[in-house]
Amino acid sequence: MATCNVDVLRALLITFLALSGAAHEEEDTYDFIVVGGGAAGCVLANRLSESGKHSVLLLNVAGPPPDAYRGPVLISDELIVKKNMSSSSGLSVQINQPGYSPVRNFSVTETGSSPARWLGGSSLVGLSLYLRDHPETLDAWGTGWGWKEMQKYFHKVENLAASCYGGNQSCGDYGTAGPVKIAKEPSYTHPLTMDFIAAARAEGLPETRDLNTHHGRAVGVPPTVQDKGNKVHAFDAYLRPAIGRANLQVRHGARADRLVLNGRKCEGVAYRDLLTSRDQVVKARKEVILSSGYIYSPRLLFLSGLGPKEDLENVGLKVALDLPAVGQHLTSARYSPLTWKTERQTLSQMMGQPISHDARGIPEAYQSTVQEALARFRSKQASRKEAGSTRSDIVLTFMPLYQAPASAPLQFSLQGEPWPLKTNAYTILATISETAAKGRVTFPTAAPDVSPVVTHDALTDADWELAQEAVEFAMRIGNQSALGGAFLRNGAGARDGFSAIYDGRGSCRMGKDGKDSVVDKRLRVHGIDFLRVADGSVIPQASPYLALPEVLALAERAADLVLGDHEEHEMSKSVKRARVLLIAQKAADRDMSLRHLKEVLGQHATLIEMVEYVSNPAQVELATASAAPPTALAITALAMLALFPSSLILAWQIKRHQEACREDYQEPLLA
Ligand SMILES: Cc1cc2nc3c(=O)[nH]c(=O)nc-3n(C[C@H](O)[C@H](O)[C@H](O)COP(=O)(O)OP(=O)(O)OC[C@H]3O[C@@H](n4cnc5c(N)ncnc54)[C@H](O)[C@@H]3O)c2cc1C
Repeated sequence: MATCNVDVLRALLITFLALSGAAHEEEDTYDFIVVGGGAAGCVLANRLSESGKHSVLLLNVAGPPPDAYRGPVLISDELIVKKNMSSSSGLSVQINQPGYSPVRNFSVTETGSSPARWLGGSSLVGLSLYLRDHPETLDAWGTGWGWKEMQKYFHKVENLAASCYGGNQSCGDYGTAGPVKIAKEPSYTHPLTMDFIAAARAEGLPETRDLNTHHGRAVGVPPTVQDKGNKVHAFDAYLRPAIGRANLQVRHGARADRLVLNGRKCEGVAYRDLLTSRDQVVKARKEVILSSGYIYSPRLLFLSGLGPKEDLENVGLKVALDLPAVGQHLTSARYSPLTWKTERQTLSQMMGQPISHDARGIPEAYQSTVQEALARFRSKQASRKEAGSTRSDIVLTFMPLYQAPASAPLQFSLQGEPWPLKTNAYTILATISETAAKGRVTFPTAAPDVSPVVTHDALTDADWELAQEAVEFAMRIGNQSALGGAFLRNGAGARDGFSAIYDGRGSCRMGKDGKDSVVDKRLRVHGIDFLRVADGSVIPQASPYLALPEVLALAERAADLVLGDHEEHEMSKSVKRARVLLIAQKAADRDMSLRHLKEVLGQHATLIEMVEYVSNPAQVELATASAAPPTALAITALAMLALFPSSLILAWQIKRHQEACREDYQEPLLA
């Protein structure tokens, strides 16, 4: 491993930059800077650079994702395979749940994936469920964001063309030409899941073949972001096709730590190059857009002096603007995993050794979404309060495997037992969405190296009333003879047995007023010019579902808002200078399909054998290349020569040094 003499390099670089200031400013200035290349960031990087009229820089903590994330869902489910593939030294988080007994607090550095750091973000580690919020929920986002406006953005994201049965007539309410492939049903469904659907029907819920097109109470199998059984994520759908555009630069290994503010104007971003531990500044001519997710977008605002005044002062940060809602108003659905022992073969057993005692794996089952079916309805409490509404606020999700309460919300082993697993059971997650209990993301110090703290408050009395109704209905379904299991008494279903899910919304929520929201309806940070937030953190309404569809659609709309505000037709000079991150196309062609994996590893390969296989072969290769045309290069070189004759030598030394460091960084990160 090459030695990175960072201090010497930093001194050289500072001299160089100071002497060639004009040239540097030109090169490290972009029209738009997008911070965070997760679900939202991939959409924005693509759409903002699409016309070629604007230069775009995307900063992200880690690089392109390992190929495993394009395979069948279970292979990349870190909760199941006990492999923390998305962790890096860049970011971690502490989660506290004062009202939850089994696991009151823990850290994702020890326990698993959320939120993923690779390009593609949390869309990589998702279960591939694609469930949109109810139209009433979207209408409550506020003017301009209702179902009517958002429906076309959902359609812009979606591509159901290849997978809807019976031709387009029966496709339902989906787009058919977007970048994200949607399948109405996953490639694999466990037999117990069909029995769950039968049991829910016996309890009076109608079955639907499409939980997105039909909005009412129902039971059914969730649509998925899968393509023939392989997971589709935001990196492949949005960013990969944009890589190679001369006006888009992607910098990974870049952790944004501060915004560059000039009074009430945001002018750029200071980031830590995790490769060299150097701090760099990049400037934005037009806007900075934060897409770092519900934990790290508020963190970046806070570290920049934009947050609750008292909290900023407590950690010794200068207050740039008192924004009390930064990090507040976090909503996450709460759930409890009720389980029934069964003699039948569950998903855990189908994974083979060492997860279960069974030596034979059943590879088809690795395409399971784990949360294979759901039953939903509106609670009595909600019906009393809002008689005319139809949205469900209780969801019962079925999993054909065991989940112990001690594994919620996010520990390595979903099953919560040592391997090989002893308990053979199926689970119903009793989930309530619109809880009065909220949460917050807070920041214990001013140092970007210290983890933020996520706190989910305990259930209120009103929440507990809802929770009891959810548990009661789940018990009725779970005890049905169609399923035939024996209820397991392990504390699940009790008031202190409800955990938050591993997704969040609202920590930079949108709204009218800077006192109780962070961004306005055009996603601009209240009181600060040229700064927006566009990711899951701005969603102001709770939902029983995870947020990928909403995040993708809102990022599509955010791109339209940003471009609408900057209608400019002349290509910026820096476009011609932008360096380009290239991703070898052969990596894109690597076959992750189940058919291929079975050919290589055998018809009964265990889940872990497949995980080992996809983890080891060659990593995605990266190369950087200069896209600068000869004229621009010549002008830059002349300017540098005129400024300081030895600058070229310094530049060469720095480039060599960076290459040595980059080699280190590109060592396989998938440990
Ligand atoms: C385990 C898990 C399973 C899920 N399953 C599903 C599912 O099945 N269906 C569904 O609809 N939703 C699911 N979700 C939720 C969904 O993935 C998220 O709602 C969505 O990805 C959020 O998108 P985002 O852009 O807001 O943030 P993210 O996708 O989390 O992206 C944030 C990005 O910002 C980067 N970043 C953070 N801080 C910085 C910084 N300071 N500097 C530079 N870069 C930074 C990170 O590296 C990351 O790439 C799941 C989430 C998790 C965690």
